[in-house]
Amino acid sequence: MKDTFKHKGLRQKLVNVIKAKGIQDEKVLEAIGRVPRHLFMDSGFLDHAYQDKAFPIAADQTISQPYTVAFQTELLKVKAGDKILEIGTGSGYQAAVLCELGVKLYSIERQLELFKKTNKFLPKLGYRPKKLIFGDGYKGLEEESPFDGIIVTAGAPFVPKPLLTQLKIGGRLVIPVGDDVQVMTLFIRKGDKEFEKHEFGEFRFVPLLEDKS
Ligand code: SAH
Repeated sequence: MKDTFKHKGLRQKLVNVIKAKGIQDEKVLEAIGRVPRHLFMDSGFLDHAYQDKAFPIAADQTISQPYTVAFQTELLKVKAGDKILEIGTGSGYQAAVLCELGVKLYSIERQLELFKKTNKFLPKLGYRPKKLIFGDGYKGLEEESPFDGIIVTAGAPFVPKPLLTQLKIGGRLVIPVGDDVQVMTLFIRKGDKEFEKHEFGEFRFVPLLEDKS
């Protein structure tokens, strides 16, 4: 588990690449600059860790492209201390970026293998989410709601209602919506039943799957 000067240098280049692609939030860029992404990938992919690309992880899933992670994080507009829910823990990379920003993080993963792996791995790097949950993200996390922000890191065929109702007033839901291709969508809760909706560009995610049980 090494993070060398070489890795740090490659990471700084990556930060410059995503900045050139339009990410402006300095705190988000700094967080990407601090998380050792190569440690979240199987060793065979080490050389690729600091390219701006998605890569396969265990259980047929992917670690999201750094630009996508930065884009979603920027839309979420977090402050230190915010209570944030992530759907799709996966490798834990997005979770680590959020921990770097000082949020109280809850994250749900439906693949047992990934849940177990990431649950052990994040604390080894010093990242301590409030709670990682093995379960179905479609339901959100009622018992810990309301949240300042909810981020979905898999492609959702529709917007699960609990994710909207578990937001605080003023809270933000960042969710890629669509089947084969997803439109990055931001909902801001303006009132009990009032939501503002903003749409951004197209992205490709692995699907948000419904519970098998
Ligand atoms: N945030 C992750 C991205 C992983 S890819 C990272 O930074 O690496 C998306 C993840 O969503 C996969 O791990 C997949 O198993 C998970 N997922 C898919 N459907 C889900 C659901 N209904 N509830 C929770 N997680 C889900």
